[in-house]
Amino acid sequence: MKTAVILFGPPGAGKGTQARRLSVQLGYPAVSTGDILREAVAAGTELGQSARKYMESGMLVPDDVVDGIAKDRLMRPDCALGFILDGYPRTIHQAQHVENLFSPGDLCTVVVGIRVEDEVLLRRLAGRRTCPGCAKMFHVQSSPSKAGDRCDECGTQLVQRRDDSEEVVKERLRVYQENTRPLIDFYKVRKVYSEVDGSGTVDVIFGSISGIVDAQISRGVMSA
Ligand code: AMP
Repeated sequence: MKTAVILFGPPGAGKGTQARRLSVQLGYPAVSTGDILREAVAAGTELGQSARKYMESGMLVPDDVVDGIAKDRLMRPDCALGFILDGYPRTIHQAQHVENLFSPGDLCTVVVGIRVEDEVLLRRLAGRRTCPGCAKMFHVQSSPSKAGDRCDECGTQLVQRRDDSEEVVKERLRVYQENTRPLIDFYKVRKVYSEVDGSGTVDVIFGSISGIVDAQISRGVMSA
């Protein structure tokens, strides 16, 4: 049985940070459609050129494009035992697409929502700095890089993502409420949804997430 951990929550909730930690702990790859799209934009591919205008304005890239990216990535051999999804699915259509990729009973799905208030998200995203080299995230106040404006892991100059500007962040939060939040009910009906408080430290939040994931995986193994 393959394990799909879906980290769910608004932009700025800390999905990427937690996904990378969970990936180390479980040994499954963390798959971020946002990272794949940003790489395509940076490389100037056809995909990147068509995705760019959506991303820069805070809108969702169309489902068929993102579903294609996710399918290609999830069919790769390193996802054979499991994977961690960060930022995908974001619409009901995408959630149905993931379900349809695998035979029922072959997939143990664990969805963990990270709950954070809007004002906290706005503050976090405005101060967020990202390393274009290794994707590590920093915050100018709460977790600055030890190397100033360079990444303390790989030395690359840190940047503020264009879509972390206040105006675009507001649009991303609106899009989250309208398109992505309804997924909570989609997964509650399937009895695979749990939620954690995302206002604590990275370590505390990680402890809560990994507790839920371990419990659900053991339950999935026992009922298989
Ligand atoms: P993220 O880094 O996950 O916040 O993604 C950055 C941007 O990439 C989003 O604001 C969207 O424009 C686009 N994107 C990433 N994942 C998806 C997705 N699953 N569906 C649609 N658009 C996405």
